[in-house]
Amino acid sequence: MDPVKIIGAGLAGCEAAYQLAKRNIKVQLYEMRPHKMTPAHQSAYFGELVCSNSFRGDQLINAVGILKQELLLLDSIVMKTAYEHQVPAGAALAVDREGFAQALTNKIKNLDNVEVINEEAQAIFEGRCIIASGPLSSEALSNDILKKTNTDSLYFYDAIAPIIEKASIDFNKAYYKSRYDKEEASYINCAMNELEYNNWYDALIKAQCAPLKEFEKLIVFEGCMPIEEIARRGYQTMLYGPLKPVGLEKDEHDHPVAVVQLRQDDAQAHLYNMVGFQTHLLYAEQKRLIQMIPGLENANIVRYGVMHRNTFINAPKLLKPTFQSKFNDDLFFAGQISGVEGYVESIASGLMAGINMARYYQQEELLIFPEESICGAMAHYITNANPQHFQPMNANFGIVKKLEGKVKKQDKKLIIAQRALAKMKEFIDQNGIIIK
Ligand SMILES: Cc1cc2nc3c(=O)[nH]c(=O)nc-3n(C[C@H](O)[C@H](O)[C@H](O)COP(=O)(O)OP(=O)(O)OC[C@H]3O[C@@H](n4cnc5c(N)ncnc54)[C@H](O)[C@@H]3O)c2cc1C
Repeated sequence: MDPVKIIGAGLAGCEAAYQLAKRNIKVQLYEMRPHKMTPAHQSAYFGELVCSNSFRGDQLINAVGILKQELLLLDSIVMKTAYEHQVPAGAALAVDREGFAQALTNKIKNLDNVEVINEEAQAIFEGRCIIASGPLSSEALSNDILKKTNTDSLYFYDAIAPIIEKASIDFNKAYYKSRYDKEEASYINCAMNELEYNNWYDALIKAQCAPLKEFEKLIVFEGCMPIEEIARRGYQTMLYGPLKPVGLEKDEHDHPVAVVQLRQDDAQAHLYNMVGFQTHLLYAEQKRLIQMIPGLENANIVRYGVMHRNTFINAPKLLKPTFQSKFNDDLFFAGQISGVEGYVESIASGLMAGINMARYYQQEELLIFPEESICGAMAHYITNANPQHFQPMNANFGIVKKLEGKVKKQDKKLIIAQRALAKMKEFIDQNGIIIK
Protein backbone atom coordinates (compact mmCIF):
# COMPACT_ATOMS: atom_id res chain seq x y z
CA MET A 1 0.00 0.00 0.00
CA ASP A 2 1.09 3.60 -0.56
CA PRO A 3 2.73 5.34 2.37
CA VAL A 4 0.71 7.73 4.51
CA LYS A 5 1.66 11.32 3.73
CA ILE A 6 1.93 13.77 6.59
CA ILE A 7 2.19 17.49 5.92
CA GLY A 8 4.25 19.31 8.56
CA ALA A 9 6.96 18.04 10.93
CA GLY A 10 5.81 20.13 13.87
CA LEU A 11 4.68 18.84 17.24
CA ALA A 12 1.61 17.09 15.84
CA GLY A 13 3.16 15.83 12.59
CA CYS A 14 6.16 14.25 14.38
CA GLU A 15 3.90 12.52 16.90
CA ALA A 16 1.59 11.19 14.16
CA ALA A 17 4.60 9.97 12.13
CA TYR A 18 5.97 8.07 15.13
CA GLN A 19 2.63 6.46 15.94
CA LEU A 20 2.32 5.20 12.35
CA ALA A 21 5.97 4.16 11.97
CA LYS A 22 5.98 2.06 15.11
CA ARG A 23 2.95 0.20 13.75
CA ASN A 24 5.02 -0.67 10.68
CA ILE A 25 3.27 1.76 8.38
CA LYS A 26 5.38 3.68 5.91
CA VAL A 27 5.23 7.44 6.19
CA GLN A 28 6.33 10.28 3.95
CA LEU A 29 6.76 13.33 6.17
CA TYR A 30 6.71 16.65 4.28
CA GLU A 31 8.40 19.65 5.90
CA MET A 32 8.96 22.88 3.99
CA ARG A 33 11.52 24.49 6.32
CA PRO A 34 14.26 25.65 5.82
CA HIS A 35 13.54 26.13 2.07
CA LYS A 36 10.40 27.98 2.94
CA MET A 37 10.09 29.47 6.42
CA THR A 38 6.96 30.52 8.32
CA PRO A 39 6.80 34.05 9.80
CA ALA A 40 7.60 32.68 13.29
CA HIS A 41 9.91 29.65 12.96
CA GLN A 42 13.63 30.32 12.96
CA SER A 43 15.32 26.97 12.37
CA ALA A 44 15.09 23.82 10.31
CA TYR A 45 14.38 21.66 13.37
CA PHE A 46 11.22 19.60 13.60
CA GLY A 47 8.93 20.50 16.51
CA GLU A 48 10.44 23.96 16.93
CA LEU A 49 8.62 25.88 19.68
CA VAL A 50 7.69 29.19 18.10
CA CYS A 51 7.19 31.15 21.30
CA SER A 52 7.41 30.11 24.96
CA ASN A 53 9.63 27.15 25.96
CA SER A 54 6.98 26.07 28.47
CA PHE A 55 4.60 23.15 28.09
CA ARG A 56 2.65 24.65 31.01
CA GLY A 57 1.58 22.98 34.28
CA ASP A 58 3.07 19.63 35.21
CA GLN A 59 0.83 18.62 38.09
CA LEU A 60 -2.37 16.64 38.26
CA ILE A 61 -4.26 19.68 39.51
CA ASN A 62 -3.99 21.11 35.96
CA ALA A 63 -5.84 19.64 33.00
CA VAL A 64 -2.70 20.07 30.91
CA GLY A 65 -0.73 18.21 33.61
CA ILE A 66 -3.14 15.27 33.35
CA LEU A 67 -2.89 15.42 29.56
CA LYS A 68 0.89 15.02 29.80
CA GLN A 69 0.48 11.87 31.91
CA GLU A 70 -2.05 10.48 29.43
CA LEU A 71 0.44 11.11 26.63
CA LEU A 72 3.19 9.28 28.50
CA LEU A 73 0.83 6.32 29.01
CA LEU A 74 0.18 6.34 25.27
CA ASP A 75 3.92 6.36 24.43
CA SER A 76 4.15 9.85 22.98
CA ILE A 77 7.60 10.40 21.51
CA VAL A 78 7.28 14.19 21.64
CA MET A 79 6.24 14.25 25.30
CA LYS A 80 9.05 11.87 26.27
CA THR A 81 11.58 14.02 24.42
CA ALA A 82 10.29 17.10 26.25
CA TYR A 83 10.91 15.45 29.65
CA GLU A 84 14.39 14.40 28.51
CA HIS A 85 15.19 18.09 27.89
CA GLN A 86 13.46 19.58 30.91
CA VAL A 87 14.85 22.73 32.52
CA PRO A 88 13.84 24.02 35.98
CA ALA A 89 10.51 25.88 35.84
CA GLY A 90 8.75 25.32 39.18
CA ALA A 91 5.45 23.54 38.73
CA ALA A 92 5.61 23.77 34.93
CA LEU A 93 7.38 21.66 32.33
CA ALA A 94 9.78 23.84 30.39
CA VAL A 95 12.44 22.57 27.99
CA ASP A 96 15.78 23.52 26.59
CA ARG A 97 14.27 24.73 23.34
CA GLU A 98 17.10 23.83 20.99
CA GLY A 99 18.06 20.58 22.71
CA PHE A 100 14.45 19.42 22.54
CA ALA A 101 13.92 20.26 18.86
CA GLN A 102 17.30 18.86 17.81
CA ALA A 103 16.71 15.56 19.64
CA LEU A 104 13.19 15.21 18.26
CA THR A 105 14.45 15.87 14.72
CA ASN A 106 17.11 13.16 15.06
CA LYS A 107 14.68 10.64 16.49
CA ILE A 108 12.13 11.17 13.72
CA LYS A 109 14.71 11.16 10.92
CA ASN A 110 16.11 7.87 12.22
CA LEU A 111 12.81 6.03 12.35
CA ASP A 112 12.80 3.04 10.03
CA ASN A 113 9.49 3.67 8.33
CA VAL A 114 9.77 7.43 7.92
CA GLU A 115 10.99 9.15 4.76
CA VAL A 116 11.45 12.89 5.19
CA ILE A 117 10.64 14.97 2.13
CA ASN A 118 11.99 18.46 2.45
CA GLU A 119 9.50 20.42 0.38
CA GLU A 120 6.32 22.42 0.63
CA ALA A 121 3.11 20.49 0.04
CA GLN A 122 1.11 22.89 -2.07
CA ALA A 123 -2.10 20.88 -1.99
CA ILE A 124 -3.80 18.10 -0.04
CA PHE A 125 -2.39 14.81 -1.32
CA GLU A 126 -4.57 12.18 -2.93
CA GLY A 127 -4.71 9.02 -0.85
CA ARG A 128 -4.10 8.78 2.88
CA CYS A 129 -2.95 12.10 4.22
CA ILE A 130 -2.67 13.84 7.59
CA ILE A 131 -2.58 17.62 7.52
CA ALA A 132 -0.49 18.85 10.45
CA SER A 133 0.80 22.07 8.94
CA GLY A 134 0.02 24.16 12.00
CA PRO A 135 -1.24 27.68 12.65
CA LEU A 136 1.18 29.10 10.09
CA SER A 137 0.33 26.72 7.24
CA SER A 138 1.70 27.89 3.90
CA GLU A 139 -0.55 29.95 1.70
CA ALA A 140 -0.76 27.48 -1.20
CA LEU A 141 -1.82 24.64 1.08
CA SER A 142 -4.30 26.84 2.96
CA ASN A 143 -5.88 27.85 -0.34
CA ASP A 144 -6.23 24.24 -1.37
CA ILE A 145 -7.85 23.35 1.97
CA LEU A 146 -10.24 26.26 1.40
CA LYS A 147 -11.04 25.04 -2.09
CA LYS A 148 -11.66 21.46 -0.99
CA THR A 149 -13.68 22.32 2.09
CA ASN A 150 -15.80 25.43 2.30
CA THR A 151 -14.84 29.07 2.23
CA ASP A 152 -16.26 29.59 5.70
CA SER A 153 -14.56 26.55 7.17
CA LEU A 154 -10.97 27.76 7.44
CA TYR A 155 -9.91 30.67 9.62
CA PHE A 156 -6.67 32.56 9.30
CA TYR A 157 -6.33 34.37 12.54
CA ASP A 158 -7.37 34.11 16.08
CA ALA A 159 -8.74 36.97 18.06
CA ILE A 160 -10.11 35.12 21.00
CA ALA A 161 -11.98 36.48 23.96
CA PRO A 162 -11.39 34.88 27.36
CA ILE A 163 -13.56 31.91 28.33
CA ILE A 164 -14.89 31.55 31.88
CA GLU A 165 -16.15 28.51 33.73
CA LYS A 166 -19.79 29.12 34.62
CA ALA A 167 -19.47 27.42 38.00
CA SER A 168 -17.12 30.21 39.09
CA ILE A 169 -19.56 33.07 38.30
CA ASP A 170 -21.33 34.74 41.24
CA PHE A 171 -25.05 34.71 40.37
CA ASN A 172 -25.87 36.95 43.30
CA LYS A 173 -24.57 39.67 40.99
CA ALA A 174 -24.64 38.20 37.46
CA TYR A 175 -27.96 37.46 35.75
CA TYR A 176 -29.40 35.94 32.59
CA LYS A 177 -31.08 38.27 30.10
CA SER A 178 -31.16 39.01 26.38
CA ARG A 179 -31.19 42.61 25.15
CA TYR A 180 -34.74 44.06 25.51
CA ASP A 181 -35.83 40.50 26.39
CA LYS A 182 -36.17 39.92 22.66
CA GLU A 183 -34.94 36.33 22.70
CA GLU A 184 -34.53 33.60 25.22
CA ALA A 185 -32.35 34.90 28.09
CA SER A 186 -29.27 32.97 27.10
CA TYR A 187 -26.59 35.57 27.88
CA ILE A 188 -25.05 36.03 31.32
CA ASN A 189 -24.75 39.73 32.19
CA CYS A 190 -22.40 41.45 34.61
CA ALA A 191 -23.42 45.06 35.20
CA MET A 192 -21.23 47.92 36.42
CA ASN A 193 -22.30 51.17 38.06
CA GLU A 194 -20.50 54.44 37.32
CA LEU A 195 -17.83 54.06 39.98
CA GLU A 196 -17.11 50.44 39.03
CA TYR A 197 -16.89 51.34 35.35
CA ASN A 198 -14.59 54.33 36.01
CA ASN A 199 -12.18 52.18 38.02
CA TRP A 200 -12.27 49.41 35.50
CA TYR A 201 -11.79 51.76 32.56
CA ASP A 202 -8.73 53.33 34.21
CA ALA A 203 -7.23 49.92 34.92
CA LEU A 204 -7.87 48.75 31.35
CA ILE A 205 -6.22 51.65 29.56
CA LYS A 206 -3.15 51.32 31.79
CA ALA A 207 -2.90 47.52 31.54
CA GLN A 208 0.11 45.94 29.89
CA CYS A 209 -0.17 44.19 26.51
CA ALA A 210 1.80 41.26 25.14
CA PRO A 211 4.05 42.48 22.32
CA LEU A 212 2.66 41.83 18.84
CA LYS A 213 4.94 40.31 16.22
CA GLU A 214 5.14 42.26 12.96
CA PHE A 215 2.92 39.78 11.06
CA GLU A 216 0.38 39.86 13.87
CA LYS A 217 -0.23 43.60 13.62
CA LEU A 218 -2.27 42.84 10.53
CA ILE A 219 -4.83 41.07 12.68
CA VAL A 220 -5.66 44.23 14.61
CA PHE A 221 -5.68 46.12 11.36
CA GLU A 222 -8.05 43.62 9.73
CA GLY A 223 -10.90 44.87 11.87
CA CYS A 224 -10.86 42.70 14.94
CA MET A 225 -10.21 45.39 17.46
CA PRO A 226 -8.97 44.33 20.88
CA ILE A 227 -10.97 45.67 23.82
CA GLU A 228 -8.01 47.67 25.14
CA GLU A 229 -7.69 49.46 21.78
CA ILE A 230 -11.40 50.29 21.78
CA ALA A 231 -11.01 51.65 25.32
CA ARG A 232 -8.08 53.87 24.34
CA ARG A 233 -10.33 55.60 21.81
CA GLY A 234 -12.27 57.20 24.64
CA TYR A 235 -14.27 56.69 27.81
CA GLN A 236 -17.57 56.32 25.92
CA THR A 237 -16.46 54.08 23.06
CA MET A 238 -16.98 50.74 24.83
CA LEU A 239 -20.38 51.95 26.10
CA TYR A 240 -21.56 52.17 22.49
CA GLY A 241 -19.84 48.90 21.64
CA PRO A 242 -19.27 45.68 23.57
CA LEU A 243 -20.34 47.13 26.95
CA LYS A 244 -23.56 48.78 25.75
CA PRO A 245 -25.97 48.66 28.73
CA VAL A 246 -29.32 49.57 27.10
CA GLY A 247 -31.95 46.86 27.25
CA LEU A 248 -29.91 44.84 29.70
CA GLU A 249 -31.15 46.30 32.98
CA LYS A 250 -31.84 43.67 35.61
CA ASP A 251 -35.16 45.35 36.52
CA GLU A 252 -36.85 48.76 36.19
CA HIS A 253 -34.91 50.18 39.18
CA ASP A 254 -31.58 49.23 37.74
CA HIS A 255 -29.56 51.68 35.58
CA PRO A 256 -26.16 50.20 34.86
CA VAL A 257 -23.54 52.30 33.07
CA ALA A 258 -21.92 49.29 31.43
CA VAL A 259 -22.79 45.61 30.98
CA VAL A 260 -20.37 42.82 30.17
CA GLN A 261 -22.08 39.93 28.39
CA LEU A 262 -21.02 36.29 28.35
CA ARG A 263 -22.22 33.88 25.69
CA GLN A 264 -22.53 30.11 26.02
CA ASP A 265 -19.54 28.39 24.48
CA ASP A 266 -20.12 24.65 24.82
CA ALA A 267 -23.09 22.34 24.40
CA GLN A 268 -23.22 21.51 28.12
CA ALA A 269 -23.22 25.25 29.08
CA HIS A 270 -20.24 24.88 31.39
CA LEU A 271 -18.20 27.52 29.58
CA TYR A 272 -19.01 31.11 28.63
CA ASN A 273 -16.99 33.51 26.50
CA MET A 274 -16.84 37.25 27.04
CA VAL A 275 -18.57 38.94 24.13
CA GLY A 276 -16.37 41.42 22.25
CA PHE A 277 -13.43 40.93 24.62
CA GLN A 278 -10.75 39.83 22.18
CA THR A 279 -7.53 41.05 23.70
CA HIS A 280 -3.78 40.85 23.66
CA LEU A 281 -3.27 41.94 27.25
CA LEU A 282 -0.79 39.89 29.28
CA TYR A 283 -2.52 36.92 30.94
CA ALA A 284 -1.93 38.31 34.45
CA GLU A 285 -3.53 41.60 33.40
CA GLN A 286 -6.53 39.79 31.90
CA LYS A 287 -7.06 37.95 35.16
CA ARG A 288 -6.81 41.15 37.21
CA LEU A 289 -9.23 43.04 34.97
CA ILE A 290 -11.77 40.25 34.64
CA GLN A 291 -11.86 39.72 38.39
CA MET A 292 -12.65 43.42 38.86
CA ILE A 293 -15.99 42.89 37.07
CA PRO A 294 -18.94 42.41 39.46
CA GLY A 295 -19.89 38.73 39.48
CA LEU A 296 -16.53 37.62 38.12
CA GLU A 297 -14.44 38.18 41.26
CA ASN A 298 -13.63 34.47 41.45
CA ALA A 299 -13.83 33.77 37.74
CA ASN A 300 -11.95 30.69 36.63
CA ILE A 301 -10.51 31.69 33.27
CA VAL A 302 -10.18 28.45 31.35
CA ARG A 303 -8.79 30.14 28.27
CA TYR A 304 -7.22 33.55 27.99
CA GLY A 305 -7.73 35.93 25.10
CA VAL A 306 -5.06 35.81 22.40
CA MET A 307 -4.46 37.45 19.07
CA HIS A 308 -2.17 35.74 16.64
CA ARG A 309 -2.12 34.30 13.19
CA ASN A 310 -3.81 30.95 13.41
CA THR A 311 -4.97 28.79 10.56
CA PHE A 312 -7.57 26.33 11.80
CA ILE A 313 -10.51 24.46 10.38
CA ASN A 314 -14.06 24.67 11.63
CA ALA A 315 -13.74 21.33 13.40
CA PRO A 316 -17.42 20.97 14.42
CA LYS A 317 -18.29 21.14 10.72
CA LEU A 318 -15.42 19.20 9.19
CA LEU A 319 -14.05 16.72 11.67
CA LYS A 320 -15.07 13.51 13.43
CA PRO A 321 -13.85 12.91 17.01
CA THR A 322 -11.39 10.42 15.50
CA PHE A 323 -9.68 13.37 13.70
CA GLN A 324 -10.85 11.95 10.36
CA SER A 325 -12.47 14.38 7.94
CA LYS A 326 -16.25 14.08 7.62
CA PHE A 327 -15.98 14.53 3.86
CA ASN A 328 -12.98 12.47 2.86
CA ASP A 329 -12.17 9.25 4.72
CA ASP A 330 -8.54 9.34 3.57
CA LEU A 331 -7.95 12.72 5.17
CA PHE A 332 -7.12 13.46 8.81
CA PHE A 333 -6.23 16.74 10.55
CA ALA A 334 -3.85 17.03 13.49
CA GLY A 335 -2.38 19.77 15.66
CA GLN A 336 -3.40 23.37 15.92
CA ILE A 337 -5.05 23.31 12.47
CA SER A 338 -7.51 20.68 13.77
CA GLY A 339 -8.93 23.18 16.28
CA VAL A 340 -6.97 22.48 19.43
CA GLU A 341 -4.84 25.19 21.00
CA GLY A 342 -1.41 24.81 22.59
CA TYR A 343 1.76 22.75 22.39
CA VAL A 344 0.63 19.77 24.48
CA GLU A 345 -2.82 19.78 22.90
CA SER A 346 -1.21 19.70 19.44
CA ILE A 347 0.91 16.71 20.44
CA ALA A 348 -2.23 14.95 21.75
CA SER A 349 -4.20 15.50 18.58
CA GLY A 350 -1.21 14.31 16.52
CA LEU A 351 -1.17 11.15 18.62
CA MET A 352 -4.89 10.50 18.27
CA ALA A 353 -4.82 11.22 14.52
CA GLY A 354 -1.74 8.99 14.09
CA ILE A 355 -3.26 6.04 15.94
CA ASN A 356 -6.52 6.39 14.06
CA MET A 357 -4.84 6.72 10.66
CA ALA A 358 -2.96 3.51 11.47
CA ARG A 359 -6.23 1.79 12.31
CA TYR A 360 -7.84 3.12 9.13
CA TYR A 361 -4.87 1.84 7.13
CA GLN A 362 -5.19 -1.58 8.73
CA GLN A 363 -8.96 -1.54 8.24
CA GLU A 364 -9.70 -1.56 11.94
CA GLU A 365 -12.41 0.37 13.70
CA LEU A 366 -11.35 3.93 14.56
CA LEU A 367 -11.12 4.94 18.21
CA ILE A 368 -12.95 7.68 20.05
CA PHE A 369 -10.95 8.42 23.18
CA PRO A 370 -12.89 8.35 26.49
CA GLU A 371 -14.58 11.62 27.37
CA GLU A 372 -13.33 11.29 30.95
CA SER A 373 -9.76 11.69 29.67
CA ILE A 374 -8.38 15.06 28.62
CA CYS A 375 -7.52 13.64 25.19
CA GLY A 376 -11.12 12.52 24.72
CA ALA A 377 -12.60 15.69 26.20
CA MET A 378 -10.69 17.81 23.68
CA ALA A 379 -11.71 15.62 20.74
CA HIS A 380 -15.29 15.81 21.96
CA TYR A 381 -15.21 19.58 22.46
CA ILE A 382 -13.78 20.53 19.10
CA THR A 383 -16.18 18.33 17.20
CA ASN A 384 -19.28 19.29 19.19
CA ALA A 385 -18.80 23.01 19.77
CA ASN A 386 -21.09 25.56 18.17
CA PRO A 387 -19.80 25.85 14.57
CA GLN A 388 -20.99 29.46 14.37
CA HIS A 389 -18.58 30.71 17.02
CA PHE A 390 -15.95 28.01 16.92
CA GLN A 391 -12.57 28.91 18.44
CA PRO A 392 -9.70 26.51 19.16
CA MET A 393 -9.64 25.05 22.65
CA ASN A 394 -6.94 24.11 25.09
CA ALA A 395 -6.97 21.48 27.84
CA ASN A 396 -9.05 22.64 30.80
CA PHE A 397 -11.41 21.22 33.41
CA GLY A 398 -14.42 22.99 31.91
CA ILE A 399 -14.53 20.61 28.92
CA VAL A 400 -14.18 17.40 30.94
CA LYS A 401 -17.20 15.19 31.62
CA LYS A 402 -18.63 16.17 35.00
CA LEU A 403 -18.10 13.91 38.00
CA GLU A 404 -21.11 11.97 39.18
CA GLY A 405 -22.34 12.38 42.74
CA LYS A 406 -21.26 14.90 45.34
CA VAL A 407 -17.56 15.66 45.63
CA LYS A 408 -15.81 18.13 47.90
CA LYS A 409 -14.55 21.10 45.91
CA GLN A 410 -10.97 20.69 47.09
CA ASP A 411 -10.91 17.00 45.98
CA LYS A 412 -12.46 17.55 42.56
CA LYS A 413 -9.36 18.04 40.41
CA LEU A 414 -7.50 15.08 41.82
CA ILE A 415 -10.53 12.81 41.39
CA ILE A 416 -10.88 13.96 37.78
CA ALA A 417 -7.18 13.20 37.28
CA GLN A 418 -7.42 9.73 38.81
CA ARG A 419 -10.54 8.97 36.78
CA ALA A 420 -8.89 10.20 33.55
CA LEU A 421 -5.78 8.10 34.00
CA ALA A 422 -7.70 5.01 35.09
CA LYS A 423 -10.02 5.33 32.06
CA MET A 424 -7.08 5.80 29.75
CA LYS A 425 -5.34 2.67 31.06
CA GLU A 426 -8.57 0.69 30.62
CA PHE A 427 -9.00 2.10 27.11
CA ILE A 428 -5.42 1.16 26.17
CA ASP A 429 -5.96 -2.43 27.37
CA GLN A 430 -9.40 -2.82 25.79
CA ASN A 431 -8.24 -1.61 22.40
CA GLY A 432 -4.84 -3.26 22.37
CA ILE A 433 -3.08 0.06 21.86
CA ILE A 434 0.62 -0.67 21.44
CA ILE A 435 2.47 1.28 24.10
CA LYS A 436 5.94 0.10 23.06
C1 LIG B 1 3.03 33.03 16.98
C2 LIG B 1 2.52 31.86 17.77
C3 LIG B 1 2.91 31.68 19.09
C4 LIG B 1 2.46 30.59 19.83
N1 LIG B 1 2.87 30.42 21.13
C5 LIG B 1 2.48 29.36 21.85
C6 LIG B 1 2.96 29.16 23.19
O1 LIG B 1 3.74 29.95 23.69
N2 LIG B 1 2.52 28.09 23.89
C7 LIG B 1 1.66 27.18 23.35
O2 LIG B 1 1.30 26.20 24.03
N3 LIG B 1 1.20 27.34 22.08
C8 LIG B 1 1.58 28.39 21.31
N4 LIG B 1 1.12 28.56 20.02
C9 LIG B 1 0.09 27.65 19.50
C10 LIG B 1 0.53 26.22 19.05
O3 LIG B 1 0.57 25.42 20.18
C11 LIG B 1 1.85 26.10 18.37
O4 LIG B 1 1.80 26.85 17.20
C12 LIG B 1 2.23 24.61 18.03
O5 LIG B 1 3.52 24.58 17.53
C13 LIG B 1 1.28 23.95 17.05
O6 LIG B 1 1.74 22.67 16.72
P1 LIG B 1 1.47 22.07 15.26
O7 LIG B 1 2.18 20.77 15.17
O8 LIG B 1 0.04 22.09 14.98
O9 LIG B 1 2.14 23.13 14.27
P2 LIG B 1 3.67 23.54 14.10
O10 LIG B 1 4.46 23.15 15.29
O11 LIG B 1 3.70 24.95 13.66
O12 LIG B 1 4.16 22.61 12.89
C14 LIG B 1 3.67 22.76 11.60
C15 LIG B 1 4.81 22.46 10.63
O13 LIG B 1 4.29 22.44 9.31
C16 LIG B 1 5.20 23.07 8.42
N5 LIG B 1 4.43 23.47 7.24
C17 LIG B 1 3.48 24.45 7.13
N6 LIG B 1 2.94 24.46 5.89
C18 LIG B 1 3.55 23.45 5.19
C19 LIG B 1 3.42 22.95 3.87
N7 LIG B 1 2.55 23.46 3.02
N8 LIG B 1 4.23 21.93 3.47
C20 LIG B 1 5.14 21.40 4.35
N9 LIG B 1 5.32 21.83 5.61
C21 LIG B 1 4.51 22.84 6.04
C22 LIG B 1 5.78 24.19 9.26
O14 LIG B 1 7.03 24.61 8.77
C23 LIG B 1 5.88 23.54 10.64
O15 LIG B 1 7.12 22.91 10.84
C24 LIG B 1 1.57 29.65 19.25
C25 LIG B 1 1.18 29.83 17.92
C26 LIG B 1 1.65 30.91 17.18
C27 LIG B 1 1.23 31.07 15.77
